[in-house]
Parts: sequence; structure tokens; C-alpha cells
Amino acid sequence: MNKRFVIAIDGPAASGKSTTAKQLAKRLKYVYIDTGAMYRACGLCTLLQDVDLDDEIALKKMLDTISIKIKYAKNGNRILLNNEDVSTRIREADITKLSSQIAVIGIVRKKMVELQRKMGENGGIIMDGRDIGTVVFPNADFKFFMIADVKTRALRRWKEARLKGEDISLEKIEEELIWRDKNDSTRDISPLKQAIDAIPIDTSNVTIDQQVDMIYSIVVE
Ligand code: C5P
Repeated sequence: MNKRFVIAIDGPAASGKSTTAKQLAKRLKYVYIDTGAMYRACGLCTLLQDVDLDDEIALKKMLDTISIKIKYAKNGNRILLNNEDVSTRIREADITKLSSQIAVIGIVRKKMVELQRKMGENGGIIMDGRDIGTVVFPNADFKFFMIADVKTRALRRWKEARLKGEDISLEKIEEELIWRDKNDSTRDISPLKQAIDAIPIDTSNVTIDQQVDMIYSIVVE
């Protein structure tokens, strides 16, 4: 397989996108780009620089100088915001919510899409997010849309949180997922939706290995 494809994986939070994308990238020797992490870094930047989300001038100034880089590493990519490693901080609950709030703003999306297109211009990438197949790479070689019922998704996140030692109830996680799904799919600009030519993959009742195998065989065949 000589051609270096662009593979887009979209879907709601905890649908299995990033775990699948990471493993697939390893198998195909592609670069994995987590665009959610970029919105998270952007949200964190507004906190660090005390930028009000309603203040378009301050937001624009922040975006003009923002640097978001992905440092590729075998044991997990790191995300650098203005050259500082923020990989752990951006996974905290306040930033999860803020990332979805900031993702509705047009100038933010414009900047993120610009960066993402640059990162993927040479192909050989797997990019996951909400609008990769619809907006960032509408001509992607492969588009997948991952779904899973909300109870399954909440349980996945709850198990992850427990492993990290976080004390959060399953109900609270489910509530947050429902809020985020609604916010992401009802926004005016680039809402979360399946591209018409995307292949839907329901991950509710399959293992991660099965998910990866499914996509891998579609791509290599
Ligand atoms: O994928 P993750 O849950 O880390 O994304 C965090 C938030 O970033 C999402 O809830 C969504 O609002 C936003 N996002 C987006 N477009 C993308 C990726 C993420 O709007 N391509």
C-alpha cells in the first residue's frame, strides 16, 4: 500500500474514535492527529490568558499568536500549547466543557481547521474529531463515523476515570456526555454529523480489536 491516505474518523465523545485511531495509526505507520486535543488546548489558552469567550477582539489576538503542536511519540503523542506540554491538564473536566463551548466560535474553528489541513497535507494521517469528513478533509480517502449508545460511552469514560483515580459518578459522566453531544451537534458551524459518504461503525457491542480490524481491512483492501 504505497499511497499515503487521509483517513477521517468522526463521532461523538467516547465513541471509540481515539483508541481506534491510535491503534490503526500504529498498524498503518500513519500519524495520528487528535483534533479534540487542539480544541481543548485552545480552551485552556483562554483560561491561561484570561480571555473572555465573548470578547472577539481578545480572542482573535490570542489566536493570532497561539501555537498548538503535536509531538509524536511512540508511547502516546503529547500536545504542546505555546511550547508547554499540556497533555494532562487538557483532560480535566473544566477543559472538557470549555472545549465544547469554544468550539462553537467561528474564528476558533477557522484557525483550528487551517492548522489541521496543514498537518494533514501530505497524507499518511488518521485524524479524529467531529468535522473531519465534512469540513476539514471533505475529500478524505476514507471516512468513518463511529457511534455507540450513550450508556456504553458513559461506562467507558467512567472506567477510564476510575483508572486515573478520579471520583466521579456514572450518572454525572452520562449527564456531561449528553450535554456535550447536544452542544456539538446543534451548533451552527460545522456541527457533529455523519458525512454522506462516511461508513458508519457502531462500537456498542464490539471490542477495540474488532473495531480496528474492521477499519484496517476496509483501508488495505
Ligand atoms: O474529542 P474530544 O472529546 O477531545 O473533543 C473535545 C471537544 O472539542 C468536543 O466536545 C467538541 O466540542 C470539540 N471538537 C470539535 N471539532 C473537532 C474536534 C473536537 O468541535 N474536530
